[in-house]
Amino acid sequence: MSEIGYNHKFSALVDITAFERLMESLYKATGIPYGLVAKDGELLSQVGWTNACALFHRVNPQTNLQCQESNIELMQSVHEGEVACAKCKNGLIDYATPIVIEGQALATLFLGQVLNEAPDMEFFAKRAMEFDYDEAQYLEAIRAVPIVENERMEALMECMVGMAQMLASSGLARLRETQMASELSKSTEQRIELKDLLDLSPIGIGWSTLDGKIEYINRQFIELFGYTLEDIPDISTWYLKAYPDANYRKNVVIPWYKTVIVAYENGITPPELEGNVTCKDGTERHIVLHVSWIGDKRLVTFSDMTAHWKSERRNQAHDGMLQMVAKGLPLPDILHAIVVAIESEEPTSKCSILLLDDEKKHLFSGASNNLPQFYNDAIDGVEIGMGVGSCGTAAYLAKRVVVEDIMTHEYWAPYKELAKQADLASCWSEPIVSSDGNVLGTFAIYHAKASKPTNADIERIRFAANLAAIAIENRSAHKELERRAYTDYLTGLFNRRYFIEHSEAELARRHRYGGDVSLIMLDIDYFKKVNDQYGHGVGDMVLQKIADICRETLRDIDVIGRIGGEEFAVLLPETDGLRAMEAAERLRITISKAEIKIVKGILPNFTASFGVVSADTADITIDMLLNQADCALYDAKESGRNRVCMARKTP
Ligand code: GH3
Ligand code: MG
Ligand code: MG
Repeated sequence: MSEIGYNHKFSALVDITAFERLMESLYKATGIPYGLVAKDGELLSQVGWTNACALFHRVNPQTNLQCQESNIELMQSVHEGEVACAKCKNGLIDYATPIVIEGQALATLFLGQVLNEAPDMEFFAKRAMEFDYDEAQYLEAIRAVPIVENERMEALMECMVGMAQMLASSGLARLRETQMASELSKSTEQRIELKDLLDLSPIGIGWSTLDGKIEYINRQFIELFGYTLEDIPDISTWYLKAYPDANYRKNVVIPWYKTVIVAYENGITPPELEGNVTCKDGTERHIVLHVSWIGDKRLVTFSDMTAHWKSERRNQAHDGMLQMVAKGLPLPDILHAIVVAIESEEPTSKCSILLLDDEKKHLFSGASNNLPQFYNDAIDGVEIGMGVGSCGTAAYLAKRVVVEDIMTHEYWAPYKELAKQADLASCWSEPIVSSDGNVLGTFAIYHAKASKPTNADIERIRFAANLAAIAIENRSAHKELERRAYTDYLTGLFNRRYFIEHSEAELARRHRYGGDVSLIMLDIDYFKKVNDQYGHGVGDMVLQKIADICRETLRDIDVIGRIGGEEFAVLLPETDGLRAMEAAERLRITISKAEIKIVKGILPNFTASFGVVSADTADITIDMLLNQADCALYDAKESGRNRVCMARKTP
């Protein structure tokens, strides 16, 4: 008897095969490998190696050594009741904890290798080079390493150790009883029910008979989905509730189910089903569903991937929004996409974006997807202030306003009836704030039931408001970029490229509808001298003055561009040659009389020469017009400058 008390052997106490089976289903469900090492170093059981270890780290003698060193270090650093976690020298993470029974550490449980964040591919690529691994294959193996958050791993470890300890203590009890009273029948033997173990699992587990009757669901399943066994007595009811979209059932669930049956009949591993499961409260969880058989029972495990899936979706929403901004899509479309993305994270919510006007006084509809139109119309243009619903108040205070119950909240007193008609019972509103702290609008999440936001909800609404802020701000960035792209920085006139583009569009319009069009080209006379005598700065002032004169003298529909250093061009729609000559003459006189104040008084008068052309064919191009005007301008220069010449028509 004393022997048992002081020198337990883990393998003698625990049914290693049963434990390994448990770990195997855990491995199938999570992809996390595991190892169990006895205190004397003997490897008792092991399931799954990541390819990165099996095919690379363990193969190369150098990295194999690093692997072993890492294991020893980890084993030495682990204490009772603690989960040790270490990044091995090969860059992957191992978790370890001792299994202590009656004060004796009998074995060490390892879970890993995993990663707890997306792998640093540069690091692994460098190692591939250093240790002569096939880089592509190695990086693929690294990508296949499961990414599990630290917290989840620790919970998993705790659970596994709990199971091992229960198994061991039951084994211990059994061993004691046998030894103490071997003559007694085994009727008092304490057995740990599989169901008790399953209830400890952090993974949802259930099983059904082959004809579809659900016999068991564990505690985690009920926590995950909210359904109890009464809610889902059989597989068909479960499918109806978990996958309420008939198309999804028809096109995804049923075909998958059929392959599961075929797999069963052929004794092969059935495929997993990854997708959204609708919970009892209407929310959705992203689940990987894995089926296996124990005898004629179908065992299903449900791994909750919601957190990972949500962050992926958020990244996608973020990238999608940036792409839309980059493509220059209209802001309402971008805001609508944000609303749809945020609503889809939690289908019972309805979202809207309101935009604050330039006066910072009124909110206008920005985007909404599921709110009734009469409601949007009633809110459109509302003046912000204290007690103006959630959004009016949030925009006014520049603070998040959470109204859990619209019917009883003072901010909603004037809008209670409206909200009731629209079937809205709660409204949380986050101000959309620009990078320099100005309120741009509000992002609101509504529910049909009075609702209090969870931390995840707060995170979601902040993410949404931030996304909207980027979209709104970048639109006006976008405007500035666009403006810079088509104007000349010095004069504010169109630059050459945009002048040509704009003129081409105008000529194309004329080609369809007909009408006159003319072009004036002008060039400053002896401009080089201005620069030489008075400096470049004064030269710039002359250029700006001429731009101002063009803007003031010409009509809004005329297209004015600075097409060269001191050369300007004007396209005059609906203008024949005569009127174009008149316009050029007006410009010439105004320019010749213009005064520019300089430090030493007033700059002597300056002049320009003009070439004018009028389109004579329907399919004339801007290049043709510019060439012909340039020739006329040359004539004007040649014949003495400060004059207007009409292009000579080719006979
Ligand atoms: P012409 O009467 O034959 O047109 O003689 P010009 O001196 O005006 O012609 P030229 O082509 O010899 O010189 C044009 C000058 O315009 C030379 C260049 O330094 C000046 N210039 C071009 N762009 C700018 C600018 O942005 N600012 C200033 N200040 N000068 C410019
Ligand atoms: Mg010139
Ligand atoms: Mg000139």
